[in-house]
Amino acid sequence: MPLTEKEHRQNIVEVGRMVYAKGWVASNDGNISIRLDENRILATPTGVSKGMMQPDDLIVCDLSGNKIEGRRERTSEIAMHTTVYSMRPDVQAVVHAHPPVATGFAVAGRALNLAICPEVVIGLGCVPLAEYGLPGTPAVTEGMLPYIPKFDALLMANHGALCYGEDVFQAFFKMETLEHIARITLVAELLGGPKVLPRVEVDKLLDSRSRYGIKSRSGDEPGCPIAAEEVQPSGRYWVTREELIALVDEAVRARG
Ligand SMILES: [Zn+2]
Repeated sequence: MPLTEKEHRQNIVEVGRMVYAKGWVASNDGNISIRLDENRILATPTGVSKGMMQPDDLIVCDLSGNKIEGRRERTSEIAMHTTVYSMRPDVQAVVHAHPPVATGFAVAGRALNLAICPEVVIGLGCVPLAEYGLPGTPAVTEGMLPYIPKFDALLMANHGALCYGEDVFQAFFKMETLEHIARITLVAELLGGPKVLPRVEVDKLLDSRSRYGIKSRSGDEPGCPIAAEEVQPSGRYWVTREELIALVDEAVRARG
């Protein structure tokens, strides 16, 4: 049975508390939304801590981001949400936050695209880095457009992260996996650098997705995630955005 609007409001409040408690946002940062029907979304407002919201703080917007209902004001980041909903009919909820370790990678200009942990290879494939765009302007979504159809979690350069899924808890869990893999990657780097899984193991993990009933869009993306054989001969165990683009180009050419 579909949830009522009241239940959706409670779920957003609950996810907001967890996002805040986990330290993924400071002050009034971050925003969470749920698709109510084909024309309306329920969203967190601006100017409120996501850890201290009440169900009636939430606002209802149309898919262009115009407020339809609610006493509070809409967030200037609403376009991130409406863009995902319009490009991905399968998505029912979106979570945006600034989890510090994942955001650290985004600030360093680094995607999380290496095959290092099985559950992340299966669940997310990899997390690309979208180009920076000024928050609150159309530029904020421009860098994400190439990635939204193909990935379920994005890093946003010099800003934060965006995750989406079939319900608000799935979107939250993707953000949790993203921050978790960022922390693991950081620790592995401090300890001499991650050992990336070989292609044969990555392929086994990608094949197992159907067994686990996981629908991930990133399965057919070349270089997602990058296996040991594809790591750059530069001596670095990570690739820059430019190198990733070159790898993707190479893979596309190889396919003819
Ligand atoms: Zn933000």
